[in-house]
Amino acid sequence: MQCPIPGCTDSTRPGQLLCRLHWSAVPTELKGRVWSTWRAFTKAVGHRAALVARQPYLDARQAAIDHVAAAQGPLL
Ligand SMILES: [Zn+2]
Repeated sequence: MQCPIPGCTDSTRPGQLLCRLHWSAVPTELKGRVWSTWRAFTKAVGHRAALVARQPYLDARQAAIDHVAAAQGPLL
């Protein structure tokens, strides 16, 4: 998969959210949030529980992407 950071042409490895460079730019606290919400999602039992657990992960994921994209500054 391609790294979701706008303008980045690097690819992510399976199970990774961002390319190595951009993942390293995510603050530790936010990385922890992505992992803990992901774990909660994978442990959710049943369709309904999975749907409920999915949103915090998507929020954390988006927060990490937004943080790195904002830190990058405007694209050339
Ligand atoms: Zn990237």
